[in-house]
Amino acid sequence: MPVRSKDNFLVFGAPLIGQDEIDEVVASMKSGWLGTGPKVARFEKDFSDYVGATHAAACNSCTAALHLSLVALGLEPGDEVITTPLTFCASVNAIIHAGGTPVLADVDPVTQNIDPEAIREKITPRTKAVLPVHFAGRSCDMDPIMAIAHEHGLKVVEDCAHAIETTYKGRHAGTFGDFGCFSFYVTKNVCTGEGGMVIARDEADIRNIKVLGLHGMSADAWKRFSDEGYKHYQVVHAGFKYNMMDIQAAIGIHQLKRVEENFKRRCEIWDMYQEAFRALPVGTPAPEEPDTRHARHLYTLMIDPVACGLDRDQVLVRLTKENIGAGVHYLAVPEHPYYRDRYGWKLEDTPHAVALGRETLSLPLSAKLTDDDVADVIEAVNLCLGA
Ligand SMILES: *Cc1c(COP(=O)(O)O)cnc(C)c1O
Repeated sequence: MPVRSKDNFLVFGAPLIGQDEIDEVVASMKSGWLGTGPKVARFEKDFSDYVGATHAAACNSCTAALHLSLVALGLEPGDEVITTPLTFCASVNAIIHAGGTPVLADVDPVTQNIDPEAIREKITPRTKAVLPVHFAGRSCDMDPIMAIAHEHGLKVVEDCAHAIETTYKGRHAGTFGDFGCFSFYVTKNVCTGEGGMVIARDEADIRNIKVLGLHGMSADAWKRFSDEGYKHYQVVHAGFKYNMMDIQAAIGIHQLKRVEENFKRRCEIWDMYQEAFRALPVGTPAPEEPDTRHARHLYTLMIDPVACGLDRDQVLVRLTKENIGAGVHYLAVPEHPYYRDRYGWKLEDTPHAVALGRETLSLPLSAKLTDDDVADVIEAVNLCLGA
């Protein structure tokens, strides 16, 4: 039986949806324009303005955004792409589906981001690109990563699924590499249900991404049936069906308007957690690096079984009993059998990511949380850890 009296399960990563989103979706439904159209174009413009990008292409997930970016690099079989072992499987799967070979470079145990020196050690004559992930909303160390990329002629695709608000030396995450890929999945900092965005420095790259993301057709489908009359299209690639719908953009436009407000709320919750857990025998997130902004996407505790007397999975079970939904971001990639079997990856090759993956858990950090919710989470963590 739960000790605490809270009756409702606190869902991890529940989005904060306002009336403006609801009204805009209804307006889309009433207009009859459900698919890719003017709202997607507006969301692309608003998002570009927010992150300081010149060119953007909306798509139906960050997974699609990563896949398109990697296809656009023109990987040949055997080309290697270096990424982090502490990420969602989508980062690695996108490399595989684009025809590349993923190579893992271990993380820095403090920042939990890919270690530039580990990237350097993994470079071979087949290395074509680097795919850093701004984990939890903390910026990767982009100066050395870009320096390595320039030195070796590598492309850079940034996985910014956690990093919409992240900046590094005054510039937004995603604007350093050739491509930056963002997620608007329900649990992410800006949500559209499902959705993603690619930004690029080069306009030709974004034109290519838009063609690849819509069957490889040379003209936008939504122009095909306009009042200017039917337009023939030409297929110039074997493309994909990755376009965003106006219904999704309708949500995103209003989510994006509140991105800073929601960020501020998550900063408050983050500070309450940092204060509350200082005395517990758990690891808490390191302060962000100077001249960076951490997007406060994931608040993670590190559960060292020796220090805590419980392992991470036991704490997860206890939190669930206390009606607190927690997440795990992530078991290290080599823990999964597919990758071990296909690439022969061993756990001891990326020891920091494997250790972190076994100790980490993420607490609720949605802007939707009330102060009472936050107090409940803190009380539950204290109870679970016997403090
Ligand atoms: C969520 C996530 C993705 C995939 O995003 P989708 O929009 O769900 O496809 C990719 N990489 C990381 C690090 C993520 O957290």
